[in-house]
Amino acid sequence: MHVPPIPTLHAADPELAALVEGEAQRQHDVLRMIASENYVSRTVLEATGTVLTNKYSEGYPGKRYYEGQLFIDQIEQLAIDRAKALFGVDHANVQPYSGSPANLAVYLAFAQPGDPVMGLSLPMGGHLTHGWGVSATGAWFRPVRYEVRREDGRIDLDQVRDLARKEQPKIMIAGGTAIPRTIDFPAFAEIAREVGAVLVADIAHIAGLIAGGAHPSPVGYADVITTTTHKTLRGPRGAMIMTTAEHAKAVDKAVFPGLQGGPHNHTTAGIAVALKEASTPDFSRYAHQIVANAKALAAALTERGFDLVTGGTDNHLILIDLTNKGIGGKPVARALDRAGIETNYNTVPYDQRKPFDPSGLRIGTPALTTRGLTEAQMPQIAAWMSDAVDAATKDDEATLNTIAGQVREMLAAYPMPGWEPTR
Ligand SMILES: *Cc1c(COP(=O)(O)O)cnc(C)c1O
Repeated sequence: MHVPPIPTLHAADPELAALVEGEAQRQHDVLRMIASENYVSRTVLEATGTVLTNKYSEGYPGKRYYEGQLFIDQIEQLAIDRAKALFGVDHANVQPYSGSPANLAVYLAFAQPGDPVMGLSLPMGGHLTHGWGVSATGAWFRPVRYEVRREDGRIDLDQVRDLARKEQPKIMIAGGTAIPRTIDFPAFAEIAREVGAVLVADIAHIAGLIAGGAHPSPVGYADVITTTTHKTLRGPRGAMIMTTAEHAKAVDKAVFPGLQGGPHNHTTAGIAVALKEASTPDFSRYAHQIVANAKALAAALTERGFDLVTGGTDNHLILIDLTNKGIGGKPVARALDRAGIETNYNTVPYDQRKPFDPSGLRIGTPALTTRGLTEAQMPQIAAWMSDAVDAATKDDEATLNTIAGQVREMLAAYPMPGWEPTR
């Protein structure tokens, strides 16, 4: 049963309610190991399901274009103040609809069409919005792409410096979607300062780790910080842009009226709740447990012959190169899904296979850590993954089914916020 319950939805639209219930139970029954996903708290669910969705409030607290902002202003200000306090920044904009629009707002604020902008190449772990060709950010600006070293899979800061000096980017982005290692923000800041680029730290994946003290913070190094709110930060789907006082106005203008209309106030409320949760000692323990779990899982996978990009992890994320297993990422992700283990296929640096059928599998521990799993369960998960990969190479559907049952059985002991068994 969905929590909070949705009886009115069941009565009025049973077709949709059944689908929602189905998804809730599915989230309960499988090991959710997609590195960018999580389970939000019931508190966040309640906040995002409120009448705040009814209200238009273009503008910012105290400067709106519509009347009736007595409470909305206070809600948005609360979210802003909590973001500033949690991350220790001068300024926060909590209105971007999601991570991609947040990044687009930063381009709008600091670059002109055709300007050079620098980011980690997508197949090396960068995000689409860091200047990849199919994204507006790659089509409207001139992307300059840095890479990771072939030898160790780590970001090549010498190449970053050389490229930055040569191409003089207006914006430099540090961060990505498939980086299993700590990002060296001070090194990026030194290079950005030398070439006069605005340094943007895109901490979408690691915001919760930073908030909890489990990853170094870009604050004091980056001019602008963009983040989603729904990954390790464990809030509703949304985003924030945090800046130094110097860049506050430019970013606010770019978000509204530059790019967006009315903010999603129910989401803002959910973000405020998540930020409050993220400022507790409990959350700091959670962030450190995510990393401890990822390290334990990486060790157990290595023991079973999996080849990990960079040889391991410093954060929540593990990138597996399946080349030595003689099978691609896509059939493995599909097989794991049938075994109750939810992941995504991914390119690995210098991938020899095609992007739609790459060599890698990306996994992460944020969601299963929210369920309460610890290092103790990681060897079992690695064993299931190993057996599932073997089964995938042999089209052994029975083994995948057996694993799915075992996963469901184990997870029954770990409640999730958002769903509980019907009594
Ligand atoms: C997830 C992600 C984004 C985009 O977030 P959406 O909410 O999916 O638009 C941007 N940058 C990075 C590094 C991400 O991981």
